Amino acid sequence: MTGVDETVAHAAIKALIRTIPDYPKPGILFRDVTTLLSDGPGFRAAIDALVEPHRGARIAKIAAIEARGFIVGGAMADRLGAGFVPLRKRGKLPHTVVGVDYELEYGVDRVEVHADAIEAGDRILVVDDLIATGGTALAAIALIEQLGGVVCGVAAIIDLPDLGGSDRIRALGHEVHALCAFAGD
Ligand code: AMP
Repeated sequence: MTGVDETVAHAAIKALIRTIPDYPKPGILFRDVTTLLSDGPGFRAAIDALVEPHRGARIAKIAAIEARGFIVGGAMADRLGAGFVPLRKRGKLPHTVVGVDYELEYGVDRVEVHADAIEAGDRILVVDDLIATGGTALAAIALIEQLGGVVCGVAAIIDLPDLGGSDRIRALGHEVHALCAFAGD
């Protein structure tokens, strides 16, 4: 499966992800990673696998997307010895921000970052729990690039390849690494 690093270990990680039908609205299959996060060996295996492609890549900072991305991105930053930059919803950050509006699979939102969190030339890895349409990750990439950061790829636990997000990100020349994929939406 293109861009999804599926191995036996990854199949075990995938098996720990719960699917909730019709959340947060009818027709959405919500891929709930809280069941993976609450499993110690599973969480560790997921972080091990997520950092693997980026060892030696001189990542300066992980920029992770609120809220589940913080959990995954924080653990990855610690493992890689990188800094952590929170990308937050509108109005949550206390200092001067730059922001970008984007479309979700189920709504419209805005992502913001502190204007001084990223310096020109910083090598940044974007992290979230899941890539659906790619709107969130593309907004994150746009924000980082506005600040002069160099995006070194996007990492996520889950890809929903049928929604085209990971292909959209790759079309801009960025690597996408996901641990598992779910067909459909
Ligand atoms: P997108 O911007 O369409 O790629 O959507 C990705 C963001 O929305 C991530 O932050 C996910 O946490 C969340 N998301 C979108 N679709 C789902 C889904 N089916 N299950 C769980 N989270 C989702």
